[in-house]
Amino acid sequence: MTRVYNFSAGPACLPEWVLKKAQEEMLDAHGSGMSVMEMSHRSSEFQEILDTCKARLRRLMNIPDDYEILFCQGGGTMQFSMVPLNLLKHSADIINTGQWTKKAIMEHKKLGKTQVIASSAEDNFTHIPKIKQEDLTPDSDYVYICENNTIYGTKYKELPPHEGKLLVADLSSCILSERTDVSKYDLIFAGAQKNMGPAGVTVVIIKKDLIGHAKENIPSLLDYKTYADNDSMYNTPPCYAIYMVGLVLQWLEEEIGGLEEMEKLTRKRASLLYDYIDQSKLYSNPVAKEDRSYTNIPFVTGDAELDKKFVKEANEAGLVNLKGHRTVGGMRASLYNAMPMEGVYALIDFMKKFEKENLA
Ligand SMILES: *Cc1c(COP(=O)(O)O)cnc(C)c1O
Repeated sequence: MTRVYNFSAGPACLPEWVLKKAQEEMLDAHGSGMSVMEMSHRSSEFQEILDTCKARLRRLMNIPDDYEILFCQGGGTMQFSMVPLNLLKHSADIINTGQWTKKAIMEHKKLGKTQVIASSAEDNFTHIPKIKQEDLTPDSDYVYICENNTIYGTKYKELPPHEGKLLVADLSSCILSERTDVSKYDLIFAGAQKNMGPAGVTVVIIKKDLIGHAKENIPSLLDYKTYADNDSMYNTPPCYAIYMVGLVLQWLEEEIGGLEEMEKLTRKRASLLYDYIDQSKLYSNPVAKEDRSYTNIPFVTGDAELDKKFVKEANEAGLVNLKGHRTVGGMRASLYNAMPMEGVYALIDFMKKFEKENLA
């Protein structure tokens, strides 16, 4: 068996520790004589898996008691509609930083008054637009951001001003990669398949007093209250995905030692790669230095044919999924929590070799 280094932006690599644990427990999980996939979600065994998963997330992220943790389906994308259905009373202020906010804007516009208060579209989303308090719309209910832009490789290092407004943030591609002060946000959501587990479950962390004010006559499954009142089990939850998230959280707590340790690893992985790219004569990263993502790092050679060759040869060398998103081209290395440091070193070694062979 050979495992590759998988730089996919999502679904992404998972820690080997987690995969092995899942394998061990596949036929007989928690003494039940069955796999988690076969369990009733109403069983005491599954209830314990769910409770443990929630408790671990609360401990790891230091989530205050006045926030609820919900497990939804429909990916990050369903939150683009659930957020306005539940929180938009007057209007929403959105900062456009690329694909994932464009989609949120599109869904918001169907449901209520929406202002795009800043955008980095004009420079192809290579920086985070900075806003001032006076840029906010007087009647807006919340400011909406995507904290880490998976496709363009930008990240907020400081939250935008939002005095008198709620702050809603899509953390799909940076959650658990560093410490997060949850109390600074009113709603955080993240699809699991980037940094938390497999596809199929989306974690929502929401201030409790924001639950129960959804628009009238909306489908039950689009109302956060339905999830809060039923411990995220109004209907059958994505049991196996929740179980896998629980294992990833156990790995983070017990094997890594928490988010402070993970943050150090995250910064180290990213700076190794950026430092190499910045001194290279072949590769470049177009993002403003102060706004660079720690988890998604795009780079180009400046020659589309050479980029293609890079992706192909990297693939043959066991460094897979380095092709950039179809809307930006070039390459992208996603360095999520499960990427071992050896994977980063292997990538840089390959890049050096490729540079030597291909620099005219
Ligand atoms: C991947 C991603 C999404 C969309 O997630 P789906 O689960 O495919 O709906 C939303 N936001 C960000 C930041 C992402 O990286």
